Amino acid sequence: MYSKETDCVYNRQQHQGVNTPIYTSTANRYIGYEEILYPRNFNTENQLAIVEKLCRLEQAEAGMIFSSGAAAISTVLFSFLKAGDHVLFSQEIYGGTVKLVVEEFAKFNIAYDFVSGAAMENIGAMIRENTRLIYTETPSNPLLSVVDLEQVSRVAKKHGILSVVDNTFATPINQNPIALGIDIVLHSGTKYLGGHHDLCFGVVVTSQQLKDAIYPSALNFGGSLNGLDCYLIERSLKTLALRVEKQNNNALQLAKALQENPAIGRVYYPGLPEHPNHAIAARQMKKGFGGMLSFELKDTSRTAAFLNRLQLIIPALSLGGVDSTICQPATSSHASLSEQERQEQGITEGLLRLSVGIESAGDLLHDIESALA
Ligand code: PLP
Repeated sequence: MYSKETDCVYNRQQHQGVNTPIYTSTANRYIGYEEILYPRNFNTENQLAIVEKLCRLEQAEAGMIFSSGAAAISTVLFSFLKAGDHVLFSQEIYGGTVKLVVEEFAKFNIAYDFVSGAAMENIGAMIRENTRLIYTETPSNPLLSVVDLEQVSRVAKKHGILSVVDNTFATPINQNPIALGIDIVLHSGTKYLGGHHDLCFGVVVTSQQLKDAIYPSALNFGGSLNGLDCYLIERSLKTLALRVEKQNNNALQLAKALQENPAIGRVYYPGLPEHPNHAIAARQMKKGFGGMLSFELKDTSRTAAFLNRLQLIIPALSLGGVDSTICQPATSSHASLSEQERQEQGITEGLLRLSVGIESAGDLLHDIESALA
């Protein structure tokens, strides 16, 4: 057993070169070979090298790399669900996942409920006879609310249903849902795992038995990834622990400073003792509270001007990279929700979601203060 820092760097599968050679062949000899090698079989050397690393980081037995987070999510859902099934989703999940559920499930006669954060505590009461799966995300986007994963896994096990967690915001460095009893962990690797805003991929890690159950659908749906991108992921993962540690520290420093700033309204960060779920976050996020935080300007009419005046922090969508980025969810990531839906979820017009990078915390704070001034 190595520490996470070492697991990020060390390749179990040794080659003469220190790194895994990039293997691009899509046609492979089969006579005399036990296994048919093919990217969509999820079994090429570059795919397996990063799966192995991610399994160690997430304390999982087996997994697969996909061409996007959305491919990983849809493959997992549709590999277990059939007509007549029901799924419980926590309400505060990635907007693209909500869209997938709302736009696709009805076509296949799959029922669902979205459960708000507070009601997650009583999720057992919402389980029906045909409920097949509970799906959640913590910390959530963009309000950083926290779901108690041990409680979710207890309820799921009691009712014999699957539990699935999108661990994108937390990263495997800070949080390991499988160790808390969750069955399947997903990532949009496009965010922290890639970490440089230049890769798009998804990850599924789980037990060998569940991976074997997902695999036939994964093969049919075809969301696999090429060797060149896998190689870049291998390189990115080497610095994951370093990057996340810096992002954890930067975000905590910024959250504390923003809380003290008279021009700032509410600050949402699970690492702040004032956060309503801080105790749960401290229990299940072992190494830090992540690099994502949200805040509101007191004078919301200045939001657009504030974004325009930032020099260092980039108004951009996506998150989790080494460069700090910021967005206004109401006009970007959550623009597809109606105003009422946004209000129900607590996403105000002036809410800003900051993905804290690895720059100096002092420079980032100076950027925010200068833009406010
Ligand atoms: N899960 C979360 C939490 C996300 O933020 C995103 C994308 O923003 C996804 C899943 C989807 O991932 P991708 O864009 O890689 O398909």
